[in-house]
Amino acid sequence: MSWEVVIGLEIHVQLNTVSKLFSGSKLSTGAEPNTQASLVDLGMPGTLPVVNKEAVRKAALFGLAINADICRHSVFERKNYFYPDLPKGYQTTQLAEPIVGAGEVEIQLENGEKKTVRIHHAHLEEDAGKSLHEDFHGMTGIDLNRAGTPLIEVVTEPDMSNAEEAVAFARKLHAIVTSIGICDGDMSQGNMRFDVNVSIRKPGDPLGTRTETKNLNSFRFMERAIKLEVERQIDVLEDGGEIVQETRLYNGDTHTARSMRSKEDANDYRYFPCPDLLPVAITDADLEALKAAMPELPNARKARFMDDYQLSEYDADLLSGSIATSAFFEGVANAGGDAKLAANWVMGELAARLNAEEKDISDSPVSAEQLGQLIARLKDGTISSKIAKQVFEACWAGEGDPDAIIEAKGLKQMSDSGELEKIVDDIIANNAPQVEDYRNSDDAKKKKKIGFFVGQAMKATQGKANPQQLNQLLKEKLG
Ligand code: ADP
Ligand code: MG
Repeated sequence: MSWEVVIGLEIHVQLNTVSKLFSGSKLSTGAEPNTQASLVDLGMPGTLPVVNKEAVRKAALFGLAINADICRHSVFERKNYFYPDLPKGYQTTQLAEPIVGAGEVEIQLENGEKKTVRIHHAHLEEDAGKSLHEDFHGMTGIDLNRAGTPLIEVVTEPDMSNAEEAVAFARKLHAIVTSIGICDGDMSQGNMRFDVNVSIRKPGDPLGTRTETKNLNSFRFMERAIKLEVERQIDVLEDGGEIVQETRLYNGDTHTARSMRSKEDANDYRYFPCPDLLPVAITDADLEALKAAMPELPNARKARFMDDYQLSEYDADLLSGSIATSAFFEGVANAGGDAKLAANWVMGELAARLNAEEKDISDSPVSAEQLGQLIARLKDGTISSKIAKQVFEACWAGEGDPDAIIEAKGLKQMSDSGELEKIVDDIIANNAPQVEDYRNSDDAKKKKKIGFFVGQAMKATQGKANPQQLNQLLKEKLG
C-alpha cells in the first residue's frame, strides 16, 4: 500500500501598516540597521505598548475575507524566550483568544476540481529583529528595525495532501491578502513566509508524526522542500526507522534540508496574558464598516472575468490569481478592445518574457497600455501576428510605443492588393517546377504545398503581406 501525505501550513503575513504593532516607529524598508526601532519595540522598562488600530482592522478584514468568526474580545499574550534579536525576552502574540477564528479558503486544483482548506485560526503578533551573519567575521550583527512589525500568523488544518495543493493554497492566500490590500506580498522581501508541516501515513491510519520546515519564502522552494521531506520520511519509515518531531531548515540553493532543533511545546514558552495591553474589542459596527469596505476578492474577480470578458474558467483563474496580473490584464483588455487576445498575450508572450528575465509583472518593460495598443493594431489588421511579435520585442527593448515602432520600421501590413498581386505573379513565374508539382497534387497535398509559395511571398514582403489576402490570391492564381 502506498503512502498518504498530510500537510498543514503556518504562514506569517506582514501587514502593510505605516507604523509598528505597538509603537509609532515606521516599518522598515531597507533603512540603516537600528534606525527604526524605538524603546517600546525593545521593551525597555518604563515604556508601554499601544495597539495599532490599523493592524487590528487589517487582521479583522482578513478574517472576513476567509469567512471566519472574528473574535470580539481577543487577548495579547507574552511568549517568553531568549534570542539575541528579541531584547524584550518575549514576543507579544496571541494564543488562547486569537482575533480570527476558524475559516476556509477554496483552492482550484489542476484537474479542474476545487478543494476547501480549513483555517484553524489566525492571530496577530509582532515580528522579531534580524540576526545578520554575513557581514561580520566570527560575529553576529543584530538589526532591530524589524522588531515590532505587525504580522498575522495564519494556521491551516492539515488538509493538503501533496505539494501542488500546498502551493495552490499558498498562491490563493497571496491573492487574498494582496487583493484586500493588507500585505504588499513581496515574497523576496519576506512579506509572506511559509512553514510547512509534513507527515505521511498508510491510508486509514491515524496521523503520523510531523516535521516542520520553516521560513520558505518562495512558492518554488516550498514545493521542492515538501517533496524532499516526503521522500526523506518514506525512506526513514521504509528502513524501519522513526520520524522525530522536529523543526527543519531547507536550503534552496543546495536543495538540502537539515534538522534545526527538536520541537518545543507551547507550555515551554510560559505564555501569559500581557499585563500592559488591554483586550481588543471589536463591535458589530466595526464589522459592518469592514464588510462595507471589503475590496473585490479573487473568487469574485474570477467570476467577473468569466462574465465580463467571456474568458474560460482556466484563463480567468490564472489571470485573477494575483492582483498585479489582474490589473495588468484589465488594462490590456480595455486598451486593446479584445479580451481574448489580451488574455493570450498576457499569459503567453508576456509571461514567457517576464519569466525568462525573472521579472515581476509590475516591473514589465511593456506597459498594459502599450500591449493594448499592439493588440488593437493586430485586431484592425495593421500588422500580422508575426510582425506583432517583432513589435513586442522592440517595445520591450524600450524603442517606444507600438504605433511609433510600426511607423518608424515600416511594419504596416500590405493592404495594397495590386502590389501583392505583382509579387505573387513573380513568384509563380520564377518557380515553374513547384507550380507544376502543385497543380498535379490532390487537395490534401495542395494544402501543404501552398506553404512554399506563402513562405516566398512573406520573404519578399518581409512578413508584411496579409496572410488571408495572400492565401486567397495564391489559390486563385495557382488554381
Ligand atoms: P502545535 O500546537 O504543536 O503548534 P498544531 O496542532 O497547532 O501544533 O499544528 C501546527 C500546524 O501543523 C498546523 O498547520 C497543522 O495543520 C499542522 N499539523 C498538525 N498535525 C499534523 C500532521 N500530523 N501532519 C501534518 N501537519 C500537521
Ligand atoms: Mg500551534
